[in-house]
Amino acid sequence: MSHARPLSASLFDQEPDFPDTGYPDTGFHDSGHPEAGDFVPDHYADAPEPSIIHGDWPEDDAPQGTRDPVATARDILKRVYGYSAFRGNQEDIITHVIQGGDALVLMPTGGGKSLCFQIPALARPGVAIVVSPLIALMRDQVDTLRQAGVRAAYLNSTLDWREALDVERACERGDLDLLYVAPERLVTPRFLELLDRSRISLFALDEAHCVSQWGHDFRPEYLQLSVLHERFPTVPRIALTATADAQTQADIVERLALGEARQFVSSFDRPNITYRVAPKDNERRQLLDFIRRHHAEDAGIVYCLSRARVEALADWLKDQGLDALPYHAGLDASVRQANQDRFIKGEGVVVVATIAFGMGIDKPNVRFVVHMDAPKSLEAYYQETGRAGRDGLPANALMLYGLQDVVMLRQMMDASDSSAQHKRTERRKLDALLGFCETAHCRRQVLLTYFGEEHPGNCGNCDTCFEPVETWDGTVAAQKALSAVYRTGQKFGVGHLIDVLRGGATEKVVRFGHDQLKTFGCGAEISKGDWQTVFRQLVALGHLTADPEGHGGLMLTDQAASVLKGQETVRLRRDRAVLSGDGRRGGGRAGGGRAGPSLAPPDDKLWHKLKAVRLELAKAQGVPPYVIFHDSTLMEMVISRPRDLTGLGLLPGVGVRKLERYGATFLDAILSEAG
Ligand code: ADP
Ligand code: ZN
Repeated sequence: MSHARPLSASLFDQEPDFPDTGYPDTGFHDSGHPEAGDFVPDHYADAPEPSIIHGDWPEDDAPQGTRDPVATARDILKRVYGYSAFRGNQEDIITHVIQGGDALVLMPTGGGKSLCFQIPALARPGVAIVVSPLIALMRDQVDTLRQAGVRAAYLNSTLDWREALDVERACERGDLDLLYVAPERLVTPRFLELLDRSRISLFALDEAHCVSQWGHDFRPEYLQLSVLHERFPTVPRIALTATADAQTQADIVERLALGEARQFVSSFDRPNITYRVAPKDNERRQLLDFIRRHHAEDAGIVYCLSRARVEALADWLKDQGLDALPYHAGLDASVRQANQDRFIKGEGVVVVATIAFGMGIDKPNVRFVVHMDAPKSLEAYYQETGRAGRDGLPANALMLYGLQDVVMLRQMMDASDSSAQHKRTERRKLDALLGFCETAHCRRQVLLTYFGEEHPGNCGNCDTCFEPVETWDGTVAAQKALSAVYRTGQKFGVGHLIDVLRGGATEKVVRFGHDQLKTFGCGAEISKGDWQTVFRQLVALGHLTADPEGHGGLMLTDQAASVLKGQETVRLRRDRAVLSGDGRRGGGRAGGGRAGPSLAPPDDKLWHKLKAVRLELAKAQGVPPYVIFHDSTLMEMVISRPRDLTGLGLLPGVGVRKLERYGATFLDAILSEAG
């Protein structure tokens, strides 16, 4: 390794990406043109199927849901979705909205927000209007609902005028249960007039944080949504978001005039995600070992900071035999779309991406998210890792983290020319992130505390819980390190500093006369690798910072003085061998150390067979496999091996319509394997 090389140069070969916000150039946005090869649903041209609910509900003029909202909600949950119990506060939310109440729902990704408006939509007479900012999300939800026999459609730029007209007519006639629409279309006179002519059951405002300028994906069109309440004051509204911070929440209430709405706040814990942060040590090897060992057949996302790193890593993974694809904002829109499609509609695809990837990805069986570079805040980290395990099954979040990351993040922040106040916020966020990376405590506790939620710790599902981290009194080592920085003039990188500390008389050390310093050789007892972790932690703790010019030199901060003067002790964590403890918990259901399919099914052969059956059915219809059955449902089939359709129909995720449509096919597969 060349010590003279700026530490961060290799990471910073290109500007970091920004998240794909779904604005016009991405093709996700409603005002964009449909892209070549885009999936255009053909089913709206046909007469709509009878609704699973409204088709066979007893003729009764009273709004169905108001008779007994709880019983109605549970009935729909079982019949349409095939689930037997609500999660968290779903039932409260749903019954409240069925009865005509307004609601603001804050629930983490994967918490089950969709059901909170879909079930009231089915219970109340009329069509529910769902405002959704991303075409990919609309499509996904409509595909899912139609598979379950619900009369759902969307109106967006991917439909030609004829198809759009069909949808509008269906809406007026009362032939739709749910209609998804982008915010900019909703507020057009044409659409508002359509609403005047239709019977509306409720308005659902998905991704409601888009109304807030403080949030990460502000959409000005959301501001106009208050028109709905003015124009249709008696129609209940339900706003939903996974963004929890107080400022955004207050904005949503104010700008959407939801002051009277009941607020439902869920825990933001994602108990099925296993969190791990491992020191970098041959990162590619670590990644490959991790995927091969835990996720050989799984879909996952690997985040890198720069486009160049994305390309190089995707190529390398491909060479290693993985089904890996790159995704970043510098790729052609058609390539991005194609890669995203392969990820969503395929099985076991790994996307290597910048943060441009992820918005609008609803794929429930993303089994792992890896950060090859530290993200810049815990908010970003939580959002990105939150894309794993939406289906509630075990999932892994792994961050590989090293000295370079810390130095670069500090340097980026110091170099930014934002206002003093802004800088303070950035510093606080960065400190929180670094604190999370370096913690010796339960990671989940650190995360949830940061988001303002209490958690007792010892979650039993993070690396520090699997294997407690040792700490040691690093005060003397820290003093030596800081003094080496000071005496060499605060302009050298870690490699050189370690040479000085360990008494390595390299050409460079001699040239600068650093072999004459008092600190030369004063730290020979500590290995090179251990010194690196000491320096990393000193930067993370804020005693050292990177020189703002980006030459990779380290400088003392004001804080360092108290350590040098012996007024402050420094406790350091002892890094462990990489990815030690595979996290396997009793019962093998935890996110950690499984190999192969996430849930270690008792019969691999049947599991693969069922996945193949599902993929074939999905391909024939041009939909993602998970809209047919979730992995968890296939897993239940493997575990319980139903012998007839009645048995199959009892499994979670098998609703009435899916049983009719796919029951025989899957049953055949199960019976033939059993025989
Ligand atoms: P969110 O929109 O909050 O990210 P979704 O509505 O997409 O979450 O739900 C996440 C997953 O959980 C979906 O695949 C959904 O089918 C499933 N799910 C939701 N509610 C339940 C429930 N009560 N029982 C079982 N699975 C559920
Ligand atoms: Zn823990």
